[in-house]
Amino acid sequence: MRWLAAMLLALCIAGTIGSACAADKPDTTRILLTFGGHGFEEPPFFAMFDALPGIEYTKAEMPKDAGLLKPGLQKEYDAVVMYDMVGGITSDQQQAFVELLKQGIGVVSLHHNLGAHRDWDEFTKIIGGKFVFGDVVLEGKPYKTSTWSHDELLKVHVADAAHPITQGIRDFEIHDESYGGFYTASDVHVLLTTDHPKNAPNIAWTKTYGNSRVFHLMLGHDSKAWANPNYPKLLEQGIRWVAGK
Ligand SMILES: [Zn+2]
Repeated sequence: MRWLAAMLLALCIAGTIGSACAADKPDTTRILLTFGGHGFEEPPFFAMFDALPGIEYTKAEMPKDAGLLKPGLQKEYDAVVMYDMVGGITSDQQQAFVELLKQGIGVVSLHHNLGAHRDWDEFTKIIGGKFVFGDVVLEGKPYKTSTWSHDELLKVHVADAAHPITQGIRDFEIHDESYGGFYTASDVHVLLTTDHPKNAPNIAWTKTYGNSRVFHLMLGHDSKAWANPNYPKLLEQGIRWVAGK
């Protein structure tokens, strides 16, 4: 059967039979990586993803590529990693995204994604939090516009050391942007916290939405944060957890 394997590999390299290639690499986790709506240091950001072992990504620029977020995407990708901060997508795209999540795909939401889809209430339920713009009441509590501050030193506490995402992570310090006064839903499972005065207490959490596992990591403004070894470790373990791997 060696000839068959060789032939499959050749077709794989030629890009002829994508599905057989994926079957050949069962350990590979495939992610759709969204960006757009907020500037960032692109080369070091994508270099970090290049270095994640066993994780292959495809870039999706939002809102241009928002139409990809629809049922069927879970056959091509194990998870969507969202680093975009788009103002909004169409109501048809919103419905398709919700239907995809009801069917099931992993979701990792990073940093300024907390402020994406600011006028779409369901997105707050999907990721379990919101960077607030303007006066709003959430779960009966009033919020004002959230704040941010660059180049802060955040002391991060591991609130759940038994979770797969926090394996090998101990309390650490990170040079990153702080977000103050944002909303975290009461039903999320908190993994990381901080007592930094300019940051809301929750740094990372998990939840489920539909048949999808969701992980939000508030950290990750720029290469100073990504260079912290805890960051790619949390990212990798988060991607594997939401993907069910
Ligand atoms: Zn930022």
